[in-house]
Amino acid sequence: MTAKILRGRVLSFLSEPQGLDDVSSFLYLEDGAITIADGKIVAVGDYASAELGDAEIVDHRPHLILPGFIDLHLHYVQSQMIAAYAGSLLEWLNTYTFVEEQKFGQQGHAGAVSADFYDELIRNGTTTAVAYCSSHPRSVDAYFAEAERRNMLMIGGKVMMDRNAPEALCDTAQSGYDDTKILIERWHGRGRGLYAISPRFAITSTTAQLEASRTLAAEHPECYVQTHLSENDAEISFSMELYPDSPDYTGIYEDYGLLGPRTLLGHSIHLNHRETRVLAETGAVAVFCPTSNLFLGSGLFDHDRLQQAGVRIGMATDIGGGTSFSMLRTMDEAYKILQLRKQRLTPLSSFYKMTLGNARALSLEGTIGTIAPGNAADLVVLDSGATPVMRLRQGSSLVDELFLLQTLGDDRAIAEVYVAGARAKSTLGGLAA
Ligand SMILES: [Zn+2]
Repeated sequence: MTAKILRGRVLSFLSEPQGLDDVSSFLYLEDGAITIADGKIVAVGDYASAELGDAEIVDHRPHLILPGFIDLHLHYVQSQMIAAYAGSLLEWLNTYTFVEEQKFGQQGHAGAVSADFYDELIRNGTTTAVAYCSSHPRSVDAYFAEAERRNMLMIGGKVMMDRNAPEALCDTAQSGYDDTKILIERWHGRGRGLYAISPRFAITSTTAQLEASRTLAAEHPECYVQTHLSENDAEISFSMELYPDSPDYTGIYEDYGLLGPRTLLGHSIHLNHRETRVLAETGAVAVFCPTSNLFLGSGLFDHDRLQQAGVRIGMATDIGGGTSFSMLRTMDEAYKILQLRKQRLTPLSSFYKMTLGNARALSLEGTIGTIAPGNAADLVVLDSGATPVMRLRQGSSLVDELFLLQTLGDDRAIAEVYVAGARAKSTLGGLAA
């Protein structure tokens, strides 16, 4: 296979930036070359010293080339209900979400939605995501089959929920366990797919189902575990009524052995000191979902308190509670939430979080999240002059440009996307625009 060289300005993080002048935290090449072969990066360096050979050269100047964005939490089965007028979390779940997810019991529905869902990820520069499917195994089959067709590294799983939801969505502790076992067998490690054991949250799982989840996690330590934690006050109160013996909401998942370095906890907003300490000790990841938290009025994620306590933090859109598939829009809202918290999110930190930060949260930094030899050639090409207003704003430094992309950018700023070395955005069919 002929090698391909992408020419452009290259930015890739090496570590978490400690302030705006931390130039040691990233690699930046003004005229860089990324050499790709067999879906992987084989070399990165200055274009002037690249071995061109007979490689195909794709010139992306003056655009920026970064690792593809990673989204740590979203619900692909809620793609068609984004922007549903809602109110608060539990009202939104009962009025829209649980109705929408029932459609995935119908033949053909999951396949159609998953195709649109992946198109939207690509359009927004997201090359890896961690998704909840519905409680129907066929929704998981459609999700991973489409990922495999597109050669994308995607993580996901069947939602397990056996109470406090419509009958048509509920499994049982036993069937949720059995179906999950079959799906792990079928999809974990096939192509680039990885499985996440997915009890929805404490409210919709009986003690028997959390017990079954514990068994699954113990039997499959190679899989991720994902659930929701401490999003909204009413949700917390209801969870504590259902699990009165646990010390707090985090304690519920702790009591059922579900916390570890491969556990992703969506939201994690209202945590007490004990809960924060438990997350830090277990290595579980608190996943910040800013557009969703604002849309549902859930609360303001306390980033600095968690980080200072040693909690691992990831970033996500939380579609369809979230209001954009774009990680750029997501980081813009994260910045504003932290402004209200009197905390500062620098543009360097934002772009670190969307790439290497989220790869580290998945313990996949040796595979995705950086532009380094051996890593997958999952890349995004950013155009910081994509719209008239972006061209109007004059900035001179790299930091200015990143902040402009975060504040004003959306899918229009994604000039191209590469998945395992292949062009993915310019070749989109269907709804591409
Ligand atoms: Zn969610």
